[in-house]
Amino acid sequence: MKFGSFDLQIISDGSFWLDGGAMFGVVPKVLWEKKTAPDEKNRIRLGLNCLLVRTGNHNVLIDTGCGEKYTEKELRMYRIEHEVTLAGQLRKAGLSPEDIDVVINTHLHFDHCGGNTCYDGQVVVPSFPRAEYIVRAEEYEDAMCPNERSSASYFQHNWKVLKEKRMLRIVERDEEVLPGIQLIHTPGHTRGHQSVLIQSDGRSLLYLADLCPTTAHVPLPWVMAYDLHPMTTLDVRKQIYRQAVAGKWLLFFEHDPEQPTGYLQEGDGKYLFAPSAWEP
Ligand SMILES: [Zn+2]
Repeated sequence: MKFGSFDLQIISDGSFWLDGGAMFGVVPKVLWEKKTAPDEKNRIRLGLNCLLVRTGNHNVLIDTGCGEKYTEKELRMYRIEHEVTLAGQLRKAGLSPEDIDVVINTHLHFDHCGGNTCYDGQVVVPSFPRAEYIVRAEEYEDAMCPNERSSASYFQHNWKVLKEKRMLRIVERDEEVLPGIQLIHTPGHTRGHQSVLIQSDGRSLLYLADLCPTTAHVPLPWVMAYDLHPMTTLDVRKQIYRQAVAGKWLLFFEHDPEQPTGYLQEGDGKYLFAPSAWEP
């Protein structure tokens, strides 16, 4: 998709399944199952929609999916389905791993940075050997010292080698990574969670990541039970939604398996999702 002077492309790493109750927090199942049907283990299907931004001079990848470093048990538990893979989709887009200049990690949960690294034989190596990988300081700290509640989502093999090879840039605040590509701190899911605002020629797209993982999560109280600070998510959503409506931002939903983009409409303090075709 042409987006101002940028070229944007969804790079899918397939899909995986997580518990529907955990995905929808306090929302009763009788409501959420109308939006997405669970499997026999009560899990719902989630997309792994990464985003490739070609600026003309640089290739930027936002998040890297689940990746492929899993045991049989983990593959079953998360029902990871690689009908397509990040590497395969990038190849299809005409890019080799060496062509990626910047990788932005919204946070370090395995389903967002699992493709940062891959196996070369038995050894874990960077998937994108020339890239600078960017993550937020609070996220890095929490991922290195997870607590009893957060540890199941953090696997050090997704970033340790990057740190050792000095390929990981840890940022302290919002910044413009490249002209038109801006990091925006959106805490709540985790303390160091960030979204990415892409702006070119008067158009704006926000890569929400887990601030609002699917289009079904658009209503303000539909906050995940996975969020470590749900009240922060609520506050940040209110701020971001207001800006998104005012600025007519196109929103990008990382985990929606069917509808990756759309707009928000506001009425009576409530927000509704309005789908958009990916290719307008
Ligand atoms: Zn997450």
